[in-house]
Amino acid sequence: MEKYDAIVVGAGTAGCLAAKTTAEKGLKVCLIDKKPREEIGEKICGDALGEHHLKFLGLEKPTGGELEAKIDGIKIFSPDENTVFTIADKDFIGYLLNRRLFGQWLLKKATDAGASLQDNMNFRSPIIEKGAVVGIIAKNMKTGKVAEMRSKVVVDATGYFGMVRKQLPAEMGIDREIANEDVEACYREIRQLKQETENTRFCEIYLNQKSSPGGYVWVFPKGGARVNVGIGAIMRPGYPNPKEQLYKTTLNKPMYEDSKILAAGSWFDPVRRPLDNMVGNGIVLVGDAASLVNPIHGGGIGPSMLSGYFAGEQIVQALEAGEPTKEALWGYNKRYIDTYGKKQGTLDIFKMFLLSCSDDDLNYGMNQKLMTEDDVLKAGMGDDFKLNITETAKRVFRGLRRVGFLNKLHMTVTMMRALGAHYNTYPATPDGFEEWRAQTVKLIEEGRQKLLN
Ligand SMILES: Cc1cc2nc3c(=O)[nH]c(=O)nc-3n(C[C@H](O)[C@H](O)[C@H](O)COP(=O)(O)OP(=O)(O)OC[C@H]3O[C@@H](n4cnc5c(N)ncnc54)[C@H](O)[C@@H]3O)c2cc1C
Repeated sequence: MEKYDAIVVGAGTAGCLAAKTTAEKGLKVCLIDKKPREEIGEKICGDALGEHHLKFLGLEKPTGGELEAKIDGIKIFSPDENTVFTIADKDFIGYLLNRRLFGQWLLKKATDAGASLQDNMNFRSPIIEKGAVVGIIAKNMKTGKVAEMRSKVVVDATGYFGMVRKQLPAEMGIDREIANEDVEACYREIRQLKQETENTRFCEIYLNQKSSPGGYVWVFPKGGARVNVGIGAIMRPGYPNPKEQLYKTTLNKPMYEDSKILAAGSWFDPVRRPLDNMVGNGIVLVGDAASLVNPIHGGGIGPSMLSGYFAGEQIVQALEAGEPTKEALWGYNKRYIDTYGKKQGTLDIFKMFLLSCSDDDLNYGMNQKLMTEDDVLKAGMGDDFKLNITETAKRVFRGLRRVGFLNKLHMTVTMMRALGAHYNTYPATPDGFEEWRAQTVKLIEEGRQKLLN
């Protein structure tokens, strides 16, 4: 039986980067996916990606149709659509992807680096011996043959369902379940319109707490009179049916008259802080399998690639040093948390704030600039909301009719700061992790209690 250094389960954006990074350093890597090769990359998604993610990873701009449209910024509409925030920054360049071609482009990078692909391979279970993951059982969907595959490290890159993660023993100290209230149920269509819309340079986001609580409707121009239009709603008890809501609120608008559905479907987006720990003996979790999505806008392509890259580098380092133990792989946790996870964690609190607002609150808050474009931009960039005294006073004055809203915003900012400071103390080794985790859970629960209960 062949033995690999690493088996990467799932050839999405996270898995391809993990396979590429490890194979480039000479490791023997097997990348498996349940899809046939030509369908890898296809995903129900908003297809939006900031260019900075490619730059950070040292990836050149793809030129073979992977990028379908260039975007200058985002327009956020208040629930009554009377106020529009335009979020654009000179440093922000965004793209609408052809998701399949982009996935194929990343896949080629992984295989060119030397990773061997086994497609049509459905992961079934991890092989666990003496407290370490040492391989997987997978079934070839074409031949029906069940294979046992061995490796020093297994990477769970199976996306939202975290197929490996769910089957890990509790002693590994990795959370196995993601609560529904931390997940957005989404429905999305790609539509060919009769004619190009006026707006071809901005992604549009429509807030509405009744039809998309905690989420939003998006309309993203893809070029050639095509749009990616979808909706996400947090799966709290009684959440509305996303597809019904998209048809009721959006697809009945004149611009969709006589349009053609090119693709349609539902999927899930985990919108919470990253898993507190993403490694164990012989196992690393990346991308959606580790809940690495921005809790506010639901973007996970960038963080998933980042996590695949960081995980790959850490695996190489661990194997060079000896065994891929939890201790040896821990540096991946720390690096991800320091780079992006801290921001994701604090935005989890901001997500709760948004979820707690009524449509009236949002209309008023946006209209009276109690929340500003700058706040949203800073939140998106992971910066602090630094309100100076005059600015705070102005907002208090403007917000007199909504003191409760303003107080809640201030409380949110305070809790975000406290959580951010706590993330700065993420342990460099597994020692002290349990105390760190207990404090994280406490701070998140405090946010939930104060904002949502
Ligand atoms: C509706 C929607 C809209 C979104 N819009 C955006 C957006 O505009 N921009 C953005 O940045 N992010 C967006 N996201 C999030 C983004 O799609 C994900 O965060 C990102 O794709 C995660 O990549 P991944 O590689 O971790 O997982 P995935 O892309 O889900 O890849 C997982 C791979 O694992 C394979 N797999 C699963 N199970 C098995 C198994 N048992 N055996 C073998 N293989 C398996 C799958 O076939 C797949 O190829 C959106 C998400 C949703 C649901």
